[in-house]
Amino acid sequence: MPASLPLIELVEVRRAYGGTDGSPAVDVLRGISLSIHAGEFVAIMGASGSGKSTLMHILGCLDRPSAGTYRFAGQEIAAFSADALAWLRREAFGFVFQGYHLIRTLDALQNVEVPAVYAGEPVAQREARARALLTRLGLETRTDHRPGQLSGGQQQRVSIARALMNGGHIILADEPTGALDSQSGAEVMALLKELAASGHTVILITHDRDVAAQARRIIEIRDGRIIADNRQSEVLAKPLLEPAGFAARMNEGVARAASLWTDTREAVTSAWRTFGVNRFRTLLTLLGIVIGVASVIVMLAIGTGTQAKVAQKMALFGTNRMYVVPGSDEARGLGGTLSEQDVPLVREVPNVAAAMPFLRGQVTLRAGHVDAGATIWAVTPDAPRILNWQPVRGQFFTWSDERDLATVVLLGKKVRERLFGSADALGKYVLVNNVPFQVIGELAEKGAVTGDSDDDDVVMMPFSTGSRRVLGKTNLSWISVLLDDVSRSDQTVKALTDQLQAAHHVRDFQIYNAAAAIQAQEDTQRTMTLMLGLIAAISLLVGGIGVMNIMLMTVKERTREIGIRMATGARQRDIQRQFLTEAVMVSLVGGSAGVVVGLATGGALIGWDVPMIFSVRAIVGAFACALATGLVFGFMPARQAARLDPVVALGSD
Ligand code: ADP
Ligand code: MG
Repeated sequence: MPASLPLIELVEVRRAYGGTDGSPAVDVLRGISLSIHAGEFVAIMGASGSGKSTLMHILGCLDRPSAGTYRFAGQEIAAFSADALAWLRREAFGFVFQGYHLIRTLDALQNVEVPAVYAGEPVAQREARARALLTRLGLETRTDHRPGQLSGGQQQRVSIARALMNGGHIILADEPTGALDSQSGAEVMALLKELAASGHTVILITHDRDVAAQARRIIEIRDGRIIADNRQSEVLAKPLLEPAGFAARMNEGVARAASLWTDTREAVTSAWRTFGVNRFRTLLTLLGIVIGVASVIVMLAIGTGTQAKVAQKMALFGTNRMYVVPGSDEARGLGGTLSEQDVPLVREVPNVAAAMPFLRGQVTLRAGHVDAGATIWAVTPDAPRILNWQPVRGQFFTWSDERDLATVVLLGKKVRERLFGSADALGKYVLVNNVPFQVIGELAEKGAVTGDSDDDDVVMMPFSTGSRRVLGKTNLSWISVLLDDVSRSDQTVKALTDQLQAAHHVRDFQIYNAAAAIQAQEDTQRTMTLMLGLIAAISLLVGGIGVMNIMLMTVKERTREIGIRMATGARQRDIQRQFLTEAVMVSLVGGSAGVVVGLATGGALIGWDVPMIFSVRAIVGAFACALATGLVFGFMPARQAARLDPVVALGSD
């Protein structure tokens, strides 16, 4: 019996299940005391249900005893942090399970590499060693096979290679031959013996007396108690792991962390692999985010586009306009008239910059042999300013034309085209109701900007000429008013009403306030944009909930994988980072695709004449929201995964 410090020492260890939530407590281990020295080859034997696996989980730090003491190399396990336990599982132990416990989404080589990934070993180095281990175990031609493509014996050899990846100083094998045919079983046993002979501490758990007989020490348990402990040989190989100096090594190992960059790269690679395996599901999750981001971008672009178009149209008509229209707004009200004499009254009102009589009527025009009907606008030289409409060629008429009843006209684009085609109209004469008028100007095309091409079907002439010579009436169609200050339009309406009512003695007119109407329209438009944005934001939220749903499902479905990763040495933060990375990557990829889809859809809609203005702020905002969605909705499932108990996770199916 070696007198040195034992590697593993259990004193009166107990493990009970249940008893907390009213269910009867089941004592599985009822006071196990044993010590195992470095380099020993021990078999723990017992009938099924005697507590062997429970004991192994405690030995391998996958589970904690309910009572009693476990010392590893003289240190009490109870005092170890979660990170220290993860280090022990990673660096000291190597597990071989009856059910192999390989990660199904990884190939043989990647499965073997897992413990080294968590140890932060460089890629090339760990890949070379994993390959060497698989070669040593006769699997060099199976490195890129997934567990499902390997036989039981091959899978068990892969799991032995994984156990050896970080050294495998203590091999904990729970019924390693239990699921294998006798040939494969014999091979696995030969391997374990070889490992024991080369200095590994091997703890073999079995219910089979013949298998146990191959170890050099057999501990028999029944009903959670040790009933026999027989040593066959005292000769020990020189052990790989010496208990002395262990504490220092562990402290150093736990403190050392891989760089954030390495960890992140590993998490991204691993997430990418998971997506590759679950392509369809990943695609569906992506779709939620893509639709969310794209709709935010498109909806906001339509909203701002429409808003801008309305604003542009308004700017064209002018926001600082008002119209005095004859007639009362009451159903049985007066017909009412407005005359030229009302215009100076309007001009007297404060805040009125200009006021113009406006008379409209239908006429027939003739140039050469061409006849055309058109609308005439009899206005004053204030028209360009009040209507915000300039001639593109020639001149507008002057106040002296107005005084002299001059027979001059300006032609709208459509009228000019109809009468003169592509020929120059300037200086030519047209007959207006058989009176010759000289064309002194051409008006700018208005339909192109306002969308109302009827405006281009007009002829403008001095008010005096129009009312007296052509149309023969003095009742105005309306008075157009230009304001100095739009913000005072309400007071101006009141002042105008008072002024005209005083002159007419009755309210036989109405005032149409363009500024107020435009304000109302802009408000409606802003509400629309807000609504569109809200709808889009909701769809983004729904996308985010989709991510969370998938992540929660993924965690549930991959609980065993999480258990395996923990058994091979993953820290809680490794697991958390892995799941969070998956969620964030889905949203990153989905967000980017969403931006592209949004811009493409927007581009197509522009082709359909939908007004759109893309804003960088909306695009960046939508993308950032997608990213935040991934972080927020991925966090809970990731934390849930990280908090799983290794044994519970391993036991799930
Ligand atoms: P063995 O590996 O020797 O077959 P186990 O250690 O797996 O036995 O189980 C020993 C006993 O503990 C069994 O009776 C089993 O039902 C019980 N047991 C194991 N795990 C749990 C658990 N998580 N909850 C309740 N009882 C358990
Ligand atoms: Mg068992």
